[in-house]
Amino acid sequence: MERIYFDHSATTRVDPRVVDAMLPYFTEEYGNASSNHTHGQTAKEALESARQIVADSLNTSSKAIIFTGSGTESDNTAIKGVAEKHGKKGKHIVTSVFEHPAIANTVKYLSHNGFEVDQVPITSEGVVDLEKLKELVRDDTILVTIMTANNEIGTVQPLKDIGEIAHDKGALFHTDAVQAYGKIPIDVDKMNVDLLSLSAHKFHGPKGVGALFVKEGVTISPLLHGGGHEYGLRSSTENVPGAVGLGKAAEIAHADMDEETERLTSLRNKIIDEVTANVKESYLNGSREHRLPNNANIGFRWIEGESILLLLNHVGISISTGSACSSKSLRPSETLLALGLKPEEVHGSVRITLGRFNTAEEVDYFIEKLPPIIEKLRMMSPLAQ
Ligand code: PLP
Repeated sequence: MERIYFDHSATTRVDPRVVDAMLPYFTEEYGNASSNHTHGQTAKEALESARQIVADSLNTSSKAIIFTGSGTESDNTAIKGVAEKHGKKGKHIVTSVFEHPAIANTVKYLSHNGFEVDQVPITSEGVVDLEKLKELVRDDTILVTIMTANNEIGTVQPLKDIGEIAHDKGALFHTDAVQAYGKIPIDVDKMNVDLLSLSAHKFHGPKGVGALFVKEGVTISPLLHGGGHEYGLRSSTENVPGAVGLGKAAEIAHADMDEETERLTSLRNKIIDEVTANVKESYLNGSREHRLPNNANIGFRWIEGESILLLLNHVGISISTGSACSSKSLRPSETLLALGLKPEEVHGSVRITLGRFNTAEEVDYFIEKLPPIIEKLRMMSPLAQ
């Protein structure tokens, strides 16, 4: 059996159809999309058609989409761009306690540079507390930035309500949809979103290319100054193969979304149900209902998630103990702490995230292999005695 990959929130395999769509733009169609000759215009057409696909998927116009170099860059552009442009109007930003470092460290940077940042807590279900949010947003709040779905526990946030609360006080609403885009439908208009970040490598597209939605009429300052590409918001010669790959990946994800949601939800539920039934003292972290279809985050009392990861790796299964970026640190996950878990419970949690190429057989293999691993670790754990 091939190795099993259950870490799709870290990154995904590029769909072969995406690779095929990208290839010509490295070789035959290598023109610079800003050139006025035929080489350039062919590249430009491909870029614009990718932009249109992303725009359609969010129910907006192509003028509202810019391509970037990553989800992190989209987040930085949105937050610093609003701060610089609207900093005279107010210096207050509201975010949540469980944002990805691309948001958390960007607002932290601003808090050291004259901005005041408040974090809204989450409930024990992993959803932002809307009443607390209402208390935090003020007349001088310029931006509310709250993720669409969390990268560790997969819980989906009530964007429409969050946007309404931000708008009531005249603030802009940015959402980091890096984990959610391509997995759940997002209509920026209906959901009151002004700015939205996404990243191709999370939905079977290539690494190193992202996009940012900036609602028409919303003004931000650019991070990168130069030739004025991407409506003046992201100077750099356009990454045409990357944008084409992102567009193709977005097209496939949206065309197959209903069936894929059903398939992944059923596989994910099987994991949650069988693991929590077969392994005592195990539990699901975060809401089951308001959850991405591909995410199961399960806690096991008295043992270390990192040990589970290593023993599963030994039998050919790749999972994660948190977001990829924090797995090298021994700090307990802020997200799981914010859910109300004790530090020792946080250390005993693992994240299983499914993707397009996972099968029912792989899920069965995982369900069979996991309980003896937990039992073995508990036999060695002084806490479990
Ligand atoms: N935001 C969230 C919620 C993420 O999960 C990630 C990646 O893990 C990022 C932002 C960063 O995206 P990228 O890897 O494209 O910079």
